[in-house]
Amino acid sequence: MSTEIWAQFLERLKNQVNDRSLTYLEGLSCRCMTDQQWDLCLPDRSTLNFVESNLSDKIYDVICDVLKSHSLNTQISVSYSLENDNSREEKTEPGFLFDPIRVVDISKQNIQKAAFQVGRSFLFPASEDSPIVSSIEAREASHLNPNFTFDNFIKGGSNEMAYCAAKAVAANPAGAYNPLFIYGGVGLGKTHLMSAIGNEILQTSNLRVRYMTSEEFTNNYMEAVHDGRMKEFRDEVRKNYDVLLLDDIQFIAGKEGTQKEFFNAFNDLHSANKQIVLTSDKHPQEIKDLEERISSRLVSGLFVDIQLPEYETRLEILRKKSHLQNFYLPDDVAQYIAAKVNSHVRDLESCINRIKASAEIHNEHISMALAQKMIEPYYQSRTVLLDPDAIMQSVCRYFGISLDELLSKSRTKPIVYPRQIAMYLARTHTSLSYPDLGRAFKRDHSTIMNGVANVKKALSDKDAELQFDIKRLEDELFK
Ligand code: ADP
Ligand code: MG
Repeated sequence: MSTEIWAQFLERLKNQVNDRSLTYLEGLSCRCMTDQQWDLCLPDRSTLNFVESNLSDKIYDVICDVLKSHSLNTQISVSYSLENDNSREEKTEPGFLFDPIRVVDISKQNIQKAAFQVGRSFLFPASEDSPIVSSIEAREASHLNPNFTFDNFIKGGSNEMAYCAAKAVAANPAGAYNPLFIYGGVGLGKTHLMSAIGNEILQTSNLRVRYMTSEEFTNNYMEAVHDGRMKEFRDEVRKNYDVLLLDDIQFIAGKEGTQKEFFNAFNDLHSANKQIVLTSDKHPQEIKDLEERISSRLVSGLFVDIQLPEYETRLEILRKKSHLQNFYLPDDVAQYIAAKVNSHVRDLESCINRIKASAEIHNEHISMALAQKMIEPYYQSRTVLLDPDAIMQSVCRYFGISLDELLSKSRTKPIVYPRQIAMYLARTHTSLSYPDLGRAFKRDHSTIMNGVANVKKALSDKDAELQFDIKRLEDELFK
């Protein structure tokens, strides 16, 4: 009953205030609701002051309206307090017309959850079978990072397809693309996009969402085997979730038992019409040691890739990320970074952080000179540029393969490995764009992007053999 009243109150209030006031009301929650008293909370002092001085009459009227529509006592008082003010005792006297509810249990939940919860009820008033309180539990059970949303994901040519597919899945879980498989190099936004799907589904439906890394899946499976709790493990995944988001699926490759378990879980969930979203750093068919039956199952839905962001997207990311941090990044500096740092989104973030920290520590103005000082040492390019043919020839010589083989369609490791190294070296030591490189390698530009991203990923994972080969080749090329 109380839940329903609260939901109706929010819905009516939402329709009676302007957008500015609405932003102040986003953090509104109810500590306690009785037949004589409503105890409302706001997350911070300035919001509390604003709401108390400007909106309390309106709030009071709306409360009376809602109570009247339920034929309840309208002689109530409304008090306001800060959400983290734990000194306030909750009233638990008997004689309520309806049970007191704690819409937010302040002792246990943080402000973010409170804000989320109210945000949700603004959009979708809770029904009897989906009490407001449960949205906090649903969020907690989801294991999702609430900061990864569609709103703060920057769209660009490199991720557009993945973004649109993700939006479609969020709008129509298990009805659009199932499974959705997102792949691409490290730090390009896969986890962000996958989480955005989950966050949106949580906000717009009562579906139970679960985000899980493949490492967690593996560990849970191994623990279950060890403790003889396989039934619980199986039930957990199959019965408790409507949407499963499994991150970095390449992690299960080569692990026989986990792969088998995953395959069965996948099939069961899929046939029960539950949405599955997966990510990986590679196309399913390029994941080494992944069983064939699994990779072909994975590509049975939609698979979309995320590429390295191009200049415009990098610039937009820099602008938006600095803005989100309330940090003013002059546009010429943003353009300089976007031109210089052409790798992961994570690198762009770390550039902002480095410049920001330096400006703060030295109390310096943000200028091009400062940016150059902070960025240059990390993103030095060699001054001598090579031509791609010379690179390909050196690579062929080094690996003992012919140029025809390097440029062939062969996907065997002895050819793919040198080919991707040649792509990486050509990208690093020539000024050619991806389309230019595509022509040089007789391939689509996206294949080059993927090849380069794979090598970068392996380098960042400290693949010793690869590091050695690249060092030898660079020494040879620059000698
Ligand atoms: P991945 O899972 O592909 O390795 P993440 O999703 O963890 O990458 O992204 C790394 C960081 O970059 C995160 O902080 C994420 O928010 C950010 N990021 C990546 N792509 C974008 C984008 N298009 N817009 C905004 N932020 C992004
Ligand atoms: Mg990730």
